[in-house]
Amino acid sequence: MVIDTRKCVGDHACAVSCMAENVCPPKTAYRKVFETEFNSFPELDRFFMPTNCQHCDNPPCKKAADKSTKGAIEKRKDGIVVFNYAKLAKSPKAKEAAKKACPYYAIVDDKAGFYTDGTPVLEPYETRDFYEYDKKLNRKRGDTKGSIRKCTFCLHRLESGMLPACVGTCIGRAMYFGDKNDPESLVSELLKKEKTWNLKAGLGTQPRVYYIGYEDRTKISVATPASCIACHQ
Ligand code: SF4
Ligand code: SF4
Repeated sequence: MVIDTRKCVGDHACAVSCMAENVCPPKTAYRKVFETEFNSFPELDRFFMPTNCQHCDNPPCKKAADKSTKGAIEKRKDGIVVFNYAKLAKSPKAKEAAKKACPYYAIVDDKAGFYTDGTPVLEPYETRDFYEYDKKLNRKRGDTKGSIRKCTFCLHRLESGMLPACVGTCIGRAMYFGDKNDPESLVSELLKKEKTWNLKAGLGTQPRVYYIGYEDRTKISVATPASCIACHQ
């Protein structure tokens, strides 16, 4: 995934489409758009920073979970980091260790519940089937309850020849997705042409999300709780 922060307008449409695509319960978001300020008046600029699981090639979440539950988190050959919800739901140790180990705050708890709880009816958009990691899931059946979750890179959509929901929804066309091993893919072209950087690259996690723009983050002038990840490189 390549994210061009210069094009992000901070409308959070990617985060909303992700929640709809993956039928996320309340307080569970795979994708967050952090924001902060850059430079000072009269050159003040705002900086939006969309983040999700970085699908690290050296994933600390997997290493941490493996210590108590082997196979709860796997890295596929195509690069996607897969969570096994059933195994994770049964292993509080693996869940907590993975959450603590992820330096990108990408992992969220599925505490179940519905946005339309307490209304006359549960809306069908909350009780519909959805697909993650090659499995058909349903929250009414409790398939993800008690587990931890994160961005799947919309594997189910990729397998149908579609772009991830967030990429397809972005009105600024700030996001790109493709095969980095294919030299003719758009992402390969961008990685060759543009100056890119990875979040917290110094940790050795080898993230598979690349950013364009705002490489000089020392000029960020206002740090808020919502902008932590932008400053803590
Ligand atoms: S971003 Fe976090 S959850 Fe995703 S692979 Fe890396 S360590 Fe694991
Ligand atoms: S790739 Fe799919 S799961 Fe990941 S943040 Fe985008 S919409 Fe959500």
